[in-house]
Amino acid sequence: MTQADSNAAKDPRVALVTGGSRGIGRAVVERLLADGYDVSYCYRSRPADADLIERLAEKHGRRVFEAAVDVTDAQAMADFVAASEKALGPLGAVVTSAGIVSDAPLATMSPDAWHSVIDTNLTGTYNACRAAVFPLIKQQGGAIVNISSVTGVHGNATQSNYAASKAGIIGFTKSLAKEVARFGIRANVVAPGLIATDMTDGMNEKARTKVLRHIPLGRAGTAAEVADAVAFLVSEQSAYITGQVLQIDGGISG
Ligand code: NDP
Repeated sequence: MTQADSNAAKDPRVALVTGGSRGIGRAVVERLLADGYDVSYCYRSRPADADLIERLAEKHGRRVFEAAVDVTDAQAMADFVAASEKALGPLGAVVTSAGIVSDAPLATMSPDAWHSVIDTNLTGTYNACRAAVFPLIKQQGGAIVNISSVTGVHGNATQSNYAASKAGIIGFTKSLAKEVARFGIRANVVAPGLIATDMTDGMNEKARTKVLRHIPLGRAGTAAEVADAVAFLVSEQSAYITGQVLQIDGGISG
C-alpha cells in the first residue's frame, strides 16, 4: 500500500448529506464536491435539476450518489448509508441538513406540528448519525456536522417545536462528540441564523424586516456561507475542534 493509499484509507473523502437537494444541504453538496469529496445525498422528492449536481461532480472529477430517503425512517436511512458505501466507498463525513418548520404559538400548536418537526429534525439527525456511526468507527475517523439553528440556542416565539428539535441536536451532538472522540471521530454543530433559502422565502415582509433590524451585519446569510463553515468543520483544518456550536448568524446572537 502506498502512502497515498494509506492516507486515503484513513481519510476517505466521501461525505453523506441529508437534505442535500435544496438550500443549505445543496450548498454543502456543491462545496464538498468542489473540495474533492465524493458525495451521497438524500431528499424526499428528487430535485428537477439533479443532473446539475451530476454535471458539477463530473466537472470536479468526483462521483455522486443520490436517493429519496425520508430521514424519519430509520431502516431507510440505514439502507441508504449501506448503499452509499457500496457505491462510493467508506464514509468520512456526515452532514445532517434535512429539516422543516411548522410554526405556531404553543396554545394552538397541533400534535402533528410538534411531532413532524421533532421527528424530522431531531429523530432524523439521530437516524442518520446512528446509521453512520458504526461505519465511521470502523474507519477509526471521520467528522459529523449537524445543522441546528440559533433558535435552538436562544428560542423564538411561535417556534417551540423547532427550538426543541434544534436544542436537542446540540445536546445530542455534544454527547456524541464525547462518545466517539476515542475513535478519532469529531462531531460539531453549525447553528445558522437567517439564511436565504426556500425555508425562509415564505416569511412575511414584516417579520423579515423585524429580524433584519436585529442582525448587526444587516442582511440574511447565504447557504454558501453556511457551507463554508461546514466544509471547515469536516476538514482536517478543524482537527482539534469537537463538541462545538458554530453560529453563522451575522451577529444576531452576540
Ligand atoms: P430547505 O427547505 O431549503 O431544504 C430542506 C431540505 O431538507 C430539502 O433538501 C428537503 O428535501 C430536505 N428534507 C426535509 N424533510 C426531509 C425528510 N423528512 N427526509 C429527507 N429530506 C428532508 O431548508 P434550509 O436549507 O433552509 O434548511 C436546512 C437546515 O438548516 C434545516 O435543518 C434548517 O432547520 C436549518 N436552518 C435553516 C435556516 C434558514 O434560515 N434557512 C436557519 C437555521 C437553521 P425535499 O426537497 O425533498 O423536501
